[in-house]
Amino acid sequence: MAAYGVGLLEIETARDRIADVVSATPMVASPSLSTRANQPVSIKFECKQRTGSFKLRGATNAVRALSQDARAAGVVGVSTGNHGRGLAYAARSAGARCIVCMSELVPENKVRGIEAEGAEVRTVGRSQDEAEVEAKRLIAEHGMTYLPPFDHADVIAGQGTLGLEILEQAPEATTILCPLSGGGLISGVALAAKAIRPDLRIIGVSMARGAAMHASQEAGRPIEIEELPTLADSLGGGIGLDNRYTFAIVRDLVDEIVLLSEEEIAAAIRHTYWEEREIIEGSGSVAIGAVLAGKVALDGPAVLLVTGRNIDMALHHRIAGGEVPEV
Ligand SMILES: *Cc1c(COP(=O)(O)O)cnc(C)c1O
Repeated sequence: MAAYGVGLLEIETARDRIADVVSATPMVASPSLSTRANQPVSIKFECKQRTGSFKLRGATNAVRALSQDARAAGVVGVSTGNHGRGLAYAARSAGARCIVCMSELVPENKVRGIEAEGAEVRTVGRSQDEAEVEAKRLIAEHGMTYLPPFDHADVIAGQGTLGLEILEQAPEATTILCPLSGGGLISGVALAAKAIRPDLRIIGVSMARGAAMHASQEAGRPIEIEELPTLADSLGGGIGLDNRYTFAIVRDLVDEIVLLSEEEIAAAIRHTYWEEREIIEGSGSVAIGAVLAGKVALDGPAVLLVTGRNIDMALHHRIAGGEVPEV
């Protein structure tokens, strides 16, 4: 697997490197989804990870892989969401400075969420692009290191530790369903899982509204598509026209990509609340949504990866009550 610049060895190294920060999250059998799918279905509740999402794994591995000097200079991220939170926590745990750049339009609660994990937030300009200009300035003028959310070997290796954990907790699984955006998570999971169990099926799930990786795979190369508002907001954004890792790994190792409507995402959040009794965000719910919608045929025990829980609680309340809110 060295062909991709990251593989099982790097994932095993990552597991040791992040063990004191990252918790092993619960794997729970779901009787209701098992009945529906006619196969044993388990849910991997990675939403219970510290900072509320798996992003902590990749960020912690990437920060700890830096040299002493680079760590002392600090890290920069551009994120309003789970990557920002994970990076902030990862940097603090390594004693590194962390600045997260975002646009002035980002809601105050998101800014506070990232500050609460220990990062400095810098709000500049009125768009993500302007936030990126500020990040580049920090890198050039202060020697800080930019850490991206998915297309980075150490980030992918960190997310891959989730693949190892799933295989240990559910060795009988024949299929893993995994939320998919830029593909750092599914790349790591697929590299780990297929190195150990080449026959395991890996299925990616995205929202239909703005699925950049799916569109890129169809086109045969990374392409840009319009970003649309969706209940799966952590799955938005492109994969980068200069994508180095995740496009090729998804092309080679992911067996299928399934797309969900907003109604199907809302149904998954609702099901998880009423039947599984857990609060999860839209992006975290899509693997459950794919099974609920009958969009995957299972040929044996399946693991559904739930990736995050950082949802606005007023929005969650409306969805749990039966709405499919326009966002
Ligand atoms: C980032 C994120 C994803 C997608 O991860 P990628 O590595 O970009 O594919 C899925 N779910 C949640 C909750 C996330 O924060």
